[in-house]
Amino acid sequence: MNFDLSEEQQILVDSVAKFVANDSPVERFRKLRDTERGWDPSVWARMGEFGWLGVAYPEEQGGFGGRFVDLALILEQLGRGLVPEPIVPSVVLAGGLLSKLGSDAQRERFLAPMIEGRTSLALAYAERQSRFTPHDCRTRAERRGAGWVLSGEKTWVLNGHAADQLVIVARTAGDPLDREGLSLFVVDGDAPGLERIRVPGMDGQRSALVRLRRVEVGAERLLGPAGAARPHLEWALDRAAAAACAEGQGEIQELFDRTVAYLKQRVQFGVPIGSFQALQHRAADMYAETELCRSTMILAAIAADYEDADERQAEISAAKLQLSRGGWFVQENAIQLFGGIGVTDEQDEGLFFKRLRVLQGLFGDADWHVARYQGLRGFASEA
Ligand SMILES: Cc1cc2nc3c(=O)[nH]c(=O)nc-3n(C[C@H](O)[C@H](O)[C@H](O)COP(=O)(O)OP(=O)(O)OC[C@H]3O[C@@H](n4cnc5c(N)ncnc54)[C@H](O)[C@@H]3O)c2cc1C
Repeated sequence: MNFDLSEEQQILVDSVAKFVANDSPVERFRKLRDTERGWDPSVWARMGEFGWLGVAYPEEQGGFGGRFVDLALILEQLGRGLVPEPIVPSVVLAGGLLSKLGSDAQRERFLAPMIEGRTSLALAYAERQSRFTPHDCRTRAERRGAGWVLSGEKTWVLNGHAADQLVIVARTAGDPLDREGLSLFVVDGDAPGLERIRVPGMDGQRSALVRLRRVEVGAERLLGPAGAARPHLEWALDRAAAAACAEGQGEIQELFDRTVAYLKQRVQFGVPIGSFQALQHRAADMYAETELCRSTMILAAIAADYEDADERQAEISAAKLQLSRGGWFVQENAIQLFGGIGVTDEQDEGLFFKRLRVLQGLFGDADWHVARYQGLRGFASEA
């Protein structure tokens, strides 16, 4: 398979890399992690102007008609600067579902302003008990006249503290753990009865605990057909897992490059420690894992556009596993080769390490993706 970038993709990658180097080095993330929001709306607006937020949406929806892999290439570069603006929750998760299921009116009202960088979105799907099973949903939506009343609690709502609108997964039929009966509702961030508690993560980013106490919404807030959300939700979460691999790739590459630079610069016994063959072997193994992560990440980003769920999930689960296992190999060796300073807050390497740790756990951890892979069509066939 040819992984060479097209001319347009190379221009895109170069422009994002330039933005990270000039406008959003790790220093900007350090400042933002101490703020309530954790990201900067003026930078979000610039991302909208650059067209990055709309790159993978169809042109008729205000996007640029690109493929998911174009967005993945952007995320990879942003990962190199730990850029904290909420592309995955806003563009991939909530925006993806609005693009796929929204009526023209819903897209115009909620998707178009987000693509322009004027608003941001979140998807509230996880609950305390649900782990990585999105249909394990106790939040309920009950009919009231033409509209609905939502009650329940959602955890780990990425960008939930700041989003202008939240797409809420709620059960309109069936019991908790039933695979069907899920629906999606677009709820305003300031809706009466909606409580949002900001939760700081170990990576310096934020999520929210969201409580819904009889939140009333009109019929026009139902996204897609009632009770049929599960396959679409799984599609969006698959793409978010591919996006996590793309951002994580930027961080793995950064850890590898910084470690090699350190080995060349740190002197012991009058020579750079990189002259020791044992450490060269370690660096070579780190290089191999970094490249393997990149190949699986690109395959996952291509597969994110597949219609066939099994084919999509096979590539994405493989990449998420490699992000976790191969990425961990690079992470732990980077920290060890730096010595104890690698885990101190003063060194940027520890920040990359922590963000990667979070990405490895989001949208299915390694064990979950292995188990899912084993259940895919053809995995255990006797042919
Ligand atoms: C919070 C914290 C907890 C820790 N807990 C433990 C613990 O429980 N147990 C433990 O063992 N350590 C622990 N450490 C690590 C330990 O304190 C040192 O950080 C570690 O031994 C590396 O020493 P250094 O930081 O001086 O690194 P440096 O001396 O700067 O060395 C950096 C790296 O260079 C390489 N290197 C240096 N000199 C040579 C050489 N001559 N030949 C080949 N390679 C070389 C090594 O890969 C080394 O890791 C901890 C560190 C921290 C920050």
